[in-house]
Amino acid sequence: ANAPCLLDAKQMEVHLQRLCREISAVFGSDASIALLGIRTRGLYLAERLKAMLESNLQKEIPLGILDITLYRDDLSELAGSPIVRPTEIPFSLKDRSVILVDDVLFTGRTIRAALDALLDHGRPKRVWLAVLVDRGGRELPIQAEFVGIKMDVAMDSRVSVHMKDVDGEDAVLLESR
Ligand code: 5GP
Ligand code: MG
Repeated sequence: ANAPCLLDAKQMEVHLQRLCREISAVFGSDASIALLGIRTRGLYLAERLKAMLESNLQKEIPLGILDITLYRDDLSELAGSPIVRPTEIPFSLKDRSVILVDDVLFTGRTIRAALDALLDHGRPKRVWLAVLVDRGGRELPIQAEFVGIKMDVAMDSRVSVHMKDVDGEDAVLLESR
């Protein structure tokens, strides 16, 4: 099938640049910020943002990794159980502003599990959320402060995110089943 393209490489770059500007505007003077990428594509996204933010803000920004897989038999089965694997947070969270980064925000369950894992590690000053796509469909009171594109996607459709670092190209497609 020919999946409609929501973002091509050029548009993704424009959105990443804007996200970077928005994040820089909020955190420009905040000495202790950190990024936490959720594997797999949230991590690639976080790496991209890290490079852009570091050149913008002229400082090093630590990057940690959360590995959370929401196990659900199919996408239409919303309630899933998160599988949280060991996290890699090689810095102190104390008094830090932490930006969680994921590719797609849907029910909010992955972020809820991410917050659990994160708060096991320490007490950050504040936690923010950045996502490339907010597809609606929330089942928990969770929102992202930094959003690439926002659109209501039908329950039985899937947003396909390609990132050049893993997939060879940047693109966001809408796949209906
Ligand atoms: P949630 O936990 O909010 O229901 O779903 C978010 C998590 O599941 C994210 O880590 C994301 O990678 C994945 N996810 C949920 N829906 C989609 C989707 O339509 N496309 C992609 N690529 N990932 C999704
Ligand atoms: Mg994911």
